[in-house]
Amino acid sequence: MKQTSNNSLANGPYFPNVRLRRLRKSKALRDLLQETRISSDDLIFPLFVEEGLKNPKNVASMPDIQRIPPSKIVDVVSEILDLGIKGVIVFGIPSKKDNTAHAAYNEKGVVQKAIKTIKKNFGDRIVVISDVCMCQYTNSGHCGIIRENVVDNDSTIEILSKIAESHAKCGADIVAPSAMMDGQVFAIRKQLNDAGLADTSIMAYSAKMASPLYSPFRDLADSTPKFGDRKTYQMPGTNSFESLREIELDIKEGADMIMIKPALPYLDLIYKTRELFNLPLCAYSVSGEYALIKAASEKGWINETDVMIEFLSSIKRAGSDLIITYFAKKMAKVLLEK
Ligand SMILES: [Zn+2]
Repeated sequence: MKQTSNNSLANGPYFPNVRLRRLRKSKALRDLLQETRISSDDLIFPLFVEEGLKNPKNVASMPDIQRIPPSKIVDVVSEILDLGIKGVIVFGIPSKKDNTAHAAYNEKGVVQKAIKTIKKNFGDRIVVISDVCMCQYTNSGHCGIIRENVVDNDSTIEILSKIAESHAKCGADIVAPSAMMDGQVFAIRKQLNDAGLADTSIMAYSAKMASPLYSPFRDLADSTPKFGDRKTYQMPGTNSFESLREIELDIKEGADMIMIKPALPYLDLIYKTRELFNLPLCAYSVSGEYALIKAASEKGWINETDVMIEFLSSIKRAGSDLIITYFAKKMAKVLLEK
């Protein structure tokens, strides 16, 4: 039997010849070899514009995030552009709600005016994404028309199409339907095409989970359901195959980009989606993900900046091209100071 000498063992492609710590010996070398990098080009900042508001309003569960009055939009977007961020997603908080979300597709609605203001002042320097849903605009706080205590799918997608068209007409570059209604992407694509708005893209909230991590957002956007929950339309977070079906259907219906929401508990799904589909992929790191870091760092239990970088890097490493995050400004500042 052939004997393995100590010497040949020592020459193997492993220890002591191979020492991975060589690759980590200085910060400069580690920087050179860093595999996953976040750029400010990847970041999208969520903007919450409230109709009738005079001064920015703080939200207790989301430190450093504010509802913005329409008069302050230009200042806020200037600041975002100065930090190198290229995209915003706009949410509106209307002064009036009703059963059919009229204010959501009013051409003088809060989001419509905000989009016009941004586009008039900044043109193509910033990409404007508009959230297309009804929950901030309905008395029920649900994402659609209520019939017999459930959200009616087919009448809801008609309204969602009107909302998307009204946003696109004001200059939104991308409309992002988030109601998780069946056929919403198809209905919106058709409506946009028929209205001569074929150049407006659709970013589909394809796999939007019924997540408990949205609760700070509901304070921010005033969109808490008045009865029941959203489990008859948003996805069960346990279901990976069903999420992939949602994504596949949205692509067939005409989505230009896919979104997964929330981000951190679904990194496996981000990874799978990246492997299976070629569309640009966006992850929405939601309010609860933000609030967890903020709360723990306020208590002095973690370092906010370091944890933010680690979490955002994990989303990028899993395969997301874009990240919607309440940390967008803070992360962009870190990148500028680097
Ligand atoms: Zn909604």
